[in-house]
Amino acid sequence: MAQKFTGKITPSKPADMFAGFSKLSREERFDRLREMGALSKDDISFLRAGSPLSVELAEKFIENVIGYFQLPLGVVTNFIIDGQSYVIPMAVEETSIIAAASKTAKWVREHGRITTEVVGREIIGQIQIAKVKDFSKLQTKVREQASAWVELSNRDVAHGLVKRGGGVKSIRLRSVERGDGGLMAVIHVQADACDAMGANIINQVCEYLKPLVEEVSGEKVTMCILSNLVDTKVTRARVEMSGLDPELMEKIEEASLFALQDPYRAATNNKGVLNGIDPILIATGNDWRAVEAGIHAYAARDGQYRSITRWKRDGEKLVGTFEAPIILGIVGGVTTLHPTAKMSLKMMNIQSADELSRICASVGLVQNLGALRALTTVGIIEGHMKLHIKNLTLGAGAQEKEIPYVQKRLEEILTLHKRISLSHAVEVLRELRANQTRPPQESQT
Ligand code: NAD
Repeated sequence: MAQKFTGKITPSKPADMFAGFSKLSREERFDRLREMGALSKDDISFLRAGSPLSVELAEKFIENVIGYFQLPLGVVTNFIIDGQSYVIPMAVEETSIIAAASKTAKWVREHGRITTEVVGREIIGQIQIAKVKDFSKLQTKVREQASAWVELSNRDVAHGLVKRGGGVKSIRLRSVERGDGGLMAVIHVQADACDAMGANIINQVCEYLKPLVEEVSGEKVTMCILSNLVDTKVTRARVEMSGLDPELMEKIEEASLFALQDPYRAATNNKGVLNGIDPILIATGNDWRAVEAGIHAYAARDGQYRSITRWKRDGEKLVGTFEAPIILGIVGGVTTLHPTAKMSLKMMNIQSADELSRICASVGLVQNLGALRALTTVGIIEGHMKLHIKNLTLGAGAQEKEIPYVQKRLEEILTLHKRISLSHAVEVLRELRANQTRPPQESQT
């Protein structure tokens, strides 16, 4: 029997915990996750019932509700991050993401390790003065008032964060070219949002500061909103592997250089990284649009859109790194209001938003490695399309009893022609049905 743990797996024998996981039936997966302590009896009943959610709850989240849109929820396996093994939930519709991440995490586990860190603590709110009358006077006033404004914001708005060790930390002024020869003034308010993503909190702080800024400076504030380009708090993940085929390492390094230097490739590289990140954000009720915006903006921070991952050889080792802001929460938003998100967070047994962010960075980096390994060896089609065959079969309209035959034929076509499409599936199904309706041949005997 698998060893007992609560949420995180003791790293002594993590391989045993997920051994053969993908081959188990759903009921067996429930049993395994229950043994691991990742799911409770109630969680399993909830999942078994199809994760029913009340429309009344949806009415609380959004407007004009007509129902729910469901995504498959799976578990990515084999991840050991900073020596800790995790059960990581992913809500995603795309075939092969979970399989590729789990397979590559196993490869990483066998050849190396994943380490992570979060650098910086503060998120950013912006107060714009579009047509600044006197920039240098404003600069003097901001300098004079900054610490008082920090104190007032913490006293009147961010006291909940202060209580938890966070809150507003600093205020500074930037100038931004208007594009018409003039300047606009932008005040940056930086705050530690602790375990929340902090968007609503920082927006409220900025709105609170607006009249104070206007009164002291005589300027007119145009708007206040957080920035999703949080270069003041970035998450890093690092994969180090040894004992790999030198030729493969070189190919991965070359593929990485391609994504660093060419924005056309960088976009697809980063999409692949986000294949590993977005599903965790969705499963945990986090704002994936915010993270996407932040990551893409960070990827273009030197003026050219680049990959957010790098792979290089370091002597005998292959070293991969990820660096970008992943600003998320384990409280706030719908993270603890949406029952599935709440269950997903509990499954990972994480203690902080930073820990969740480090998990996302690790899965994103490993997902990227899996894609680069496939792209530089067998190509992406083989693995991806093999799994996608199921979708093509359903897309062609195959009934339950027709599925095995159609899948088998499509696999043969894929092996033979190295490509496959919905039209193949439609054709195979048409042939199958034609053969079934053809009158039986008269017996020759
Ligand atoms: P929130 O408004 O729910 O605030 C978080 C709350 O959690 C606060 O009241 C805080 O006091 C409390 N809290 C409890 N324990 C805490 C802890 N340990 N650490 C920190 N706070 C704790 O959520 P938020 O994080 O301010 O904002 C997130 C939401 O804002 C998301 O739903 C997002 O979609 C939305 N949003 C995003 C953007 C953007 O990204 N551009 C803009 C506007 C709104």
